[in-house]
Amino acid sequence: MAVALLLSMRIRFWGVRGSIATSGAEFAQFGGNTTCVEIEAGDQRLIIDAGTGLRPLGEKLSAQARLLGREVSATMLFTHLHWDHIQGFPFFGPAYQPTTELDLYGPLEEDGVTTLADVLTAQMTPPTFPVGLDAMAATKRFHVIGDQDVVELGDLVVRARSLSHPQGSLGYRVDYRGRSLCFATDTEHPSDGSVDEALLDLARGVDLFVCDAQYTEAEYEGRAAGPPRRGWGHSTYVAAARTARAAGARRLVLTHHDPDHDDEVVEAIEHEAQLLFPACRAASEAHPLTV
Ligand SMILES: [Zn+2]
Ligand SMILES: [Zn+2]
Repeated sequence: MAVALLLSMRIRFWGVRGSIATSGAEFAQFGGNTTCVEIEAGDQRLIIDAGTGLRPLGEKLSAQARLLGREVSATMLFTHLHWDHIQGFPFFGPAYQPTTELDLYGPLEEDGVTTLADVLTAQMTPPTFPVGLDAMAATKRFHVIGDQDVVELGDLVVRARSLSHPQGSLGYRVDYRGRSLCFATDTEHPSDGSVDEALLDLARGVDLFVCDAQYTEAEYEGRAAGPPRRGWGHSTYVAAARTARAAGARRLVLTHHDPDHDDEVVEAIEHEAQLLFPACRAASEAHPLTV
């Protein structure tokens, strides 16, 4: 058991919602926070994205640190800098502690000069936010990450690939002692029904493939209420299943649930997706996973 734990990665979804957070009983089963994922492997802790789910994760890390008498230390990977992936950062409690150590990896913006630090600073600027980034007393080491970059953290290896999304986004593959996962949110499949080669490359043979599946086919094509979502930078569960199959992934998890999809709709999407890729489930803030 102990050996299995040492060899495995533990994944917890603290935010599974796309675009904007939701609340209410009708979202309680899968959760309403925007994207934030915690990956624990050996003595490494990775956090992917700082959506609103980062706030409760920060509470857990602070409580754990008090209990164990240890400081909070984490590597944070940002897929991109749209609101729903950064809004939790000002509410990340451990970042206000001088003893906390954070390594923050983010892409350069399209202009080639605007960094993650610039965007987080702008987010925490009056009149839209009263407290500046400099109030966060933690040690913050900022790093630029881009397409095909590799980051080695002990036995854990992170690879990044550019995905198809307005202003861009990065997909991440994490390998740890023979286990692997690919996290690909905010990505749109090619319009000709094929599979994105970069994503295929990133997800090849992974134990766990987490993929954007914000829309149904009907929504994507404009056969449901509202305009067609083609070109908005998100995928469907059909495209996610197709990619999982092409990549030879063992398990598929659908994420970035649309804020208009309550638990009933997400459950129906999960069921439909299982017909295309049986080892599939919808990401839930209530269900940690192990690979
Ligand atoms: Zn998003
Ligand atoms: Zn986005």
